[in-house]
Amino acid sequence: MLLMDRDDSGFSPLRLQLARDCPVNPSGAFVVYWMTAARRVHWNFALQRAADWAAELKRPLVVVEVLACGGRWDCDRFHRFTLEGMTDNARQLAGHAALYYPFMESQPGESGELFAALSKQACAIVMDDFPIALPAIAAIEPHCNPHCNVRLEKVDGNGLLPMRAADRAFPTAAGFRRFLQKTLREHIFDTPAANPLARKKLPRLESLPGEISRRWPAIDADDLKNGKVDLSALPIDRSIGAVEEKGGSVAAEKAWKRFLQTKLARYGEDRNQPETAGASGLSAYLHFGHISVHEILHDLIVHESWTPAALAEKATGCREGWWGMRAAAESFLDEIVTWREVGFNGCTFREDFDRYESLPDWAQTTLSKHAGDKRPSLYTLDRFAAAATHDPLWNAAQRQLLREGRIHNYLRMLWGKKILEWSPSPQIALDNLIELNNRYAIDGQDPNSYSGIFWILGRYDRPWGPERPIFGLIRYMSSENTARKLRVKEYLQVYGSEKGMLRF
Ligand SMILES: Cc1cc2nc3c(=O)[nH]c(=O)nc-3n(C[C@H](O)[C@H](O)[C@H](O)COP(=O)(O)OP(=O)(O)OC[C@H]3O[C@@H](n4cnc5c(N)ncnc54)[C@H](O)[C@@H]3O)c2cc1C
Repeated sequence: MLLMDRDDSGFSPLRLQLARDCPVNPSGAFVVYWMTAARRVHWNFALQRAADWAAELKRPLVVVEVLACGGRWDCDRFHRFTLEGMTDNARQLAGHAALYYPFMESQPGESGELFAALSKQACAIVMDDFPIALPAIAAIEPHCNPHCNVRLEKVDGNGLLPMRAADRAFPTAAGFRRFLQKTLREHIFDTPAANPLARKKLPRLESLPGEISRRWPAIDADDLKNGKVDLSALPIDRSIGAVEEKGGSVAAEKAWKRFLQTKLARYGEDRNQPETAGASGLSAYLHFGHISVHEILHDLIVHESWTPAALAEKATGCREGWWGMRAAAESFLDEIVTWREVGFNGCTFREDFDRYESLPDWAQTTLSKHAGDKRPSLYTLDRFAAAATHDPLWNAAQRQLLREGRIHNYLRMLWGKKILEWSPSPQIALDNLIELNNRYAIDGQDPNSYSGIFWILGRYDRPWGPERPIFGLIRYMSSENTARKLRVKEYLQVYGSEKGMLRF
């Protein structure tokens, strides 16, 4: 009899879903971890689950990390960032019992074929549960049909709160925060092992069966190590180049530790100031799964000498005071837990999370009332993309996005509000926002892409008076006010010119 039943995962059963409810195949050749969202070796629930299966079944563990190429926004920028993460994973798994198999599609759909071939020989496959069909996840969907006879488990390692601990989409961050304060206590210490493969004695597999590795070869180990993987023949957008920031768990760890040691103490004051660069810069690493929010919380707990005794008894829904940490840490936690996870909540419980119709009624009503208002300026998607509006601050934000794949926190809100103001209709504004954000932002195509973009149009917000042209009761922002509030002089010096711009 198998010891590990469905609930015996060492973590909350709410994190585990059976995508194919087949029995484990005890005579299979190996257990597979199909890595697509939690692209890391440490603090990884899904890897932990797969390693536990391998140990129990006394079978080798194969970690297949997938880089697909069939997505609408696939480009050099995201491929390079992913590959840098794969380099770290290859290095970190080299000394372990698991076989690491980094696979990059050269044509859309290949990873689905590899998945189907592996599923015939595997005891079980464990994969990441992510609420958005990223290309690497979408690629296997056609193969998860009723003819697929492998046990396929999905593990949710996205947030501190398991996505299925809630039963509905929360319309406001305040409501979600109150819910978190009522439920999070029991999940705070439900963390994945820091090193799920430590002390695991597994039979070692040197390579995948020849017919599989010949047909779907792994990325060449030297090319991966030297950052020389050739993307030239791939059907991806080659015009959007890599960002200077390096991807991968090593860079993620460095960014996080630097923030914790040098910036966290002033996060509340500095987060919104472009000239202090006071935010963590972690969103891309979180999006690619190069760092886990569980590791972040663990380090914060140590840093703050915190114990659960400090938690407030009552769920007030207030931003500060529930954790019982210092104000800066609480403010950071409100972003990385409340705001980050409300986005995962929305994408989990609303199939229409990326559609205009998912906006709250009040927002649709007020936007439609003002749909016919004259726009002071109108730009096409190409003009937006080329940072060619009349507004120097907006153009600077767009240039930062083009060059670095990011926009400073506060300016990102202004950037979005102006796209609403300068597009022919709110529906077209939404299309423009999704296209620009997900095409260029290194943290794009994330649940938080949709929460941020839809926030521009009123989601998670409330009506704000006075009623204005175009915006109606949607919260308004102006470049003049923003420039008065923020210290933008240096920002404009850095991003105010065409230097280093992509050409259109
Ligand atoms: C129009 C628009 C588009 C956005 N698109 C994205 C996107 O594609 N991907 C993305 O991750 N975030 C997006 N955001 C949210 C926010 O801008 C980024 O999360 C933040 O700028 C990331 O920088 P940081 O890691 O330095 O943040 P920090 O201030 O250091 O915050 C730490 C973490 O908390 C989370 N967080 C912080 N602010 C928010 C927020 N407002 N909403 C949700 N989570 C938050 C992020 O995971 C972030 O990494 C968008 C916001 C707007 C207004």
